Formats: sequence, structure tokens, C-alpha cells
Amino acid sequence: MSNVAVTVDFRGKKVALDKVTDPRIKSALAQMAMDVGAKLATAKCPEHDQAPSEIRLHLTASGDADLQYHSCCEKLRDVVAKAL
Ligand SMILES: [Zn+2]
Repeated sequence: MSNVAVTVDFRGKKVALDKVTDPRIKSALAQMAMDVGAKLATAKCPEHDQAPSEIRLHLTASGDADLQYHSCCEKLRDVVAKAL
């Protein structure tokens, strides 16, 4: 699976998922991160055979997700957009 660095809005601060102390919130957000990671695990650029790298996922308390990653080109971005 792709390695996804997850940060979350927790009480108004941007923190790493590991720092979230509420186990219910933590497990829900970890599940969301795993879902994204699983979807991205098979995403590959048809031209360069590259996977997205340096994937960062920021989640807000209301469940909005902001995904950032490094891609070799626009084609990979298309693949990722379709995978999600
Ligand atoms: Zn590419």
C-alpha cells in the first residue's frame, strides 16, 4: 500500500494522526487514510510507470480531505483523480 502521511485538524491545530488522543476520532481518520492509500496503491502513470509519491492527506474535523502528492505528469494526476 502507498505510504500516506496523515495530518488532521484537531481542536483547531494541524497535528499528525499519531498525536490524536481520542481513539474514536483516530480510528475513523485512520480508516479514511487507509481507504485513500488503498485506492492510490494501484494508481500508476501509463506513460512513465510511476506511482504518486510523497502523499499527504489532511483531514478536517468535518471529514473534508485535502490530498497532496507528487506526480510525474498530468497523466498520473488523471489516473489518481479517477481512482478516488
Ligand atoms: Zn507520468
